[in-house]
Amino acid sequence: MGSISLQKVSKAFGEVNVIPAIDLDIQDGEFVVFVGPSGCGKSTLLRLIAGLEDVTSGTILIDGKDGTNLKPSERGLAMVFQSYALYPHMTVRNNIAFPLKMAGVDRAEIARKIGDVAQILNLTDYLDRKPRQLSGGQRQRVAIGRAIVRQPSAFLFDEPLSNLDAALRVNMRLEISELHYKLKTTMIYVTHDQVEAMTMADKIVVLNRGNIEQVGSPLELYHKPRNLFVAGFIGSPRMNFIAGRYAARFTAHTIGVRPEHMLVSIDAGDWRGQVTVAEHLGADTMLHVNVEGIGQIVARCDGNMPVKAEDFVYLTPQKDRIHKFDQMGDAVD
Ligand code: ADP
Ligand code: MG
Repeated sequence: MGSISLQKVSKAFGEVNVIPAIDLDIQDGEFVVFVGPSGCGKSTLLRLIAGLEDVTSGTILIDGKDGTNLKPSERGLAMVFQSYALYPHMTVRNNIAFPLKMAGVDRAEIARKIGDVAQILNLTDYLDRKPRQLSGGQRQRVAIGRAIVRQPSAFLFDEPLSNLDAALRVNMRLEISELHYKLKTTMIYVTHDQVEAMTMADKIVVLNRGNIEQVGSPLELYHKPRNLFVAGFIGSPRMNFIAGRYAARFTAHTIGVRPEHMLVSIDAGDWRGQVTVAEHLGADTMLHVNVEGIGQIVARCDGNMPVKAEDFVYLTPQKDRIHKFDQMGDAVD
């Protein structure tokens, strides 16, 4: 079991209100990602769930029971940090065994569990090494292993991949997704990286200044962002926003068009503009186009399109992919 429910949970540090009263339901077995810019309150929210911070008001239900005032160790949750927090003088085996020894589990049982976890995380050949003899990715796996052996009802990850280089991050992202598939345990994962959120989550919670802006599956957020914040945060390169008379034509204050929904042509289209930068990624090319009266627009076109800086191109927003927003920045149909 691993359902978690936040009911009107808020957090203030002294005078500073970091999380206003929020409600959130996390189902057993779900992979939930908290995503938002740095400082928006992701870690604070995770620490409230873990019990590392006290709530200012509200209730946290864990498996339907009031866990608001339980100590971290009584909540049945396991936290994995960006900084690994391994014991440097202990071998991998002893690092993983540590929580079991503390809990008084007998030696045979510890050995069996370590064997299982090492196999799941590909650490079998490294059990006798010290953390400093491991790569960053292996260290992170040890930290995850130490969480797994406790058989928590949910895993809480706080930006666990931020210290890794880009290629390794992609690998570990897949490994954590696979781990979730194998264990089917609730995971709450904090990141500022919307790509991690999109690729890993069953459910994404978009946070902005402690507020929940939207909760939904990756594709719900991509196709139906509820407001300008979510529209601009989810998707890369980010959505183009156009205000003024071009938006008024669509009876909206602002319209949004993603770069991949901007048709590019050499010959004809709605807007003519000059390419300032052409980023050739191979499979596709990102064109930064200066359109008079509108501004800088990013358009994704085929990688083979023969366009370079200073060329003129025509852009046409795909009509059925235009997002409309009112004066308050809320999406309208
Ligand atoms: P994130 O993880 O999204 O980057 P945090 O949850 O760490 O954001 O922080 C949210 C806000 O709360 C920030 O403005 C931060 O300065 C503030 N904050 C976090 N922890 C404390 C604390 N112990 N005391 C005072 N302010 C804090
Ligand atoms: Mg943080």
